[in-house]
Amino acid sequence: MKKLLIVCTLLLLNACTPENNESVQGQHKKSEQTVQKPYVLLISIDGFRWDYVDKYKPAFLSEFAKNSAHLTSLRPSFPTKTFPNHLSIITGSYPQNHGIVANKFYAPDLDKTYYIKDSDAVANSDFYLRKPLWVIAQEQNVNTASYFWPSSEAEIAGVRPSRYKKYEHSQPHQQRINGILEWFQLPQNQRPQFITTYFHDIDSAGHEFGQDSPELIATIKKVDNSIKQLVEKIRTLDIEVNIVIVSDHGMDDYPAENYEYIPAWVQDEFKVAAANTIVHLYQNENSTRTLKQALTEIKSQAKHYQCYLYQDIPAQFNASKSNRIGDITCLTDKDWAIGFNGRTSRGDHGWSQFNTTDMDGIFYAQGPAFKTAYQLDTVENVNIMPLLAHVLGLEITTPIDGKLETMKPLLVP
Ligand code: AMP
Ligand code: ZN
Ligand code: ZN
Repeated sequence: MKKLLIVCTLLLLNACTPENNESVQGQHKKSEQTVQKPYVLLISIDGFRWDYVDKYKPAFLSEFAKNSAHLTSLRPSFPTKTFPNHLSIITGSYPQNHGIVANKFYAPDLDKTYYIKDSDAVANSDFYLRKPLWVIAQEQNVNTASYFWPSSEAEIAGVRPSRYKKYEHSQPHQQRINGILEWFQLPQNQRPQFITTYFHDIDSAGHEFGQDSPELIATIKKVDNSIKQLVEKIRTLDIEVNIVIVSDHGMDDYPAENYEYIPAWVQDEFKVAAANTIVHLYQNENSTRTLKQALTEIKSQAKHYQCYLYQDIPAQFNASKSNRIGDITCLTDKDWAIGFNGRTSRGDHGWSQFNTTDMDGIFYAQGPAFKTAYQLDTVENVNIMPLLAHVLGLEITTPIDGKLETMKPLLVP
């Protein structure tokens, strides 16, 4: 607002209000407008490994990355799964604090199960314990929209993005490109300043075909083309948009034989939320073993995984505060999967984000707020939200775990 007042004074414009800054003395002036109203488009490419650009050299993203303010890689939060990490990016918080600790989990505090394929659960605000950036923006009268993002369909703290779409996994890219362009062309007083969008395809191909497959390469090309089209069209508009491209985690192939069965009795004693690379166990009321007995027994048989009472999950994961993650949580060794039914995919994620960079994702940003061709070392994804809040001129009025200082070097001073 202070900046706005300075610009208004300088321009001696009696018509310079936040609702009416599109035209400066009858003309469009991009740079002056940007000072007054920042715009951010946040694009998530699910499962885009930090090194895919170097490895596969997609035409648009390679160029975009090179000229962007970017990170060597983006470190996901634990567990390295889709919903926990999209929520970490958008709330600036670790999963134990924002509440979405897995793609599927039981919440003992609500006596309810969350599952990303259950549209009632996904829209149930009780599960979400921290505010997404769009909530903070709406509270400060900054208009937002989401063309897909995990949690965008829930009314969190009584607020939704002004515009949002129900998730449609197979919706053609063209439809969301057109939708986003329409939103950016709305009249100034309805136009969202912050828009999120999401592409699942590369994650799906990585799971099904593996990260060295022709199918994955073709999918990268397809998504690269869609993002190119979207960004190039946005660049023809009268507004300057900060374009931020992120991914939630990496991907790694693993050998088919690296599957270990968890003892069958565990299913009688626990509710199980299993996901190959990490398994969450919730003790049944009628279980015959104490938690400690069960843990000791599982551990005595486990060869390629480690199980913990949730309170004892190693500190580096920031996951020992919330029993939503399971009374017992089992983490697999890198490139191993565990469960009861046998293995299901060529590639996966969900392994520890430490020790290797295989789970790392990307952060590339271009636009008036960001430096050009500038690289910063790997940081954790909880730091993105305070950065974007700053770019949007928002005050953070809610607890978060990330820090603005961590990624601030990416911004123009
Ligand atoms: P993961 O099992 O962690 O690989 O999850 C990836 C899947 O999350 C994608 O294939 C999508 O189907 C799903 N997904 C992503 N965004 C949403 C959403 N907003 N609502 C429901 N499902 C989603
Ligand atoms: Zn994902
Ligand atoms: Zn995935």
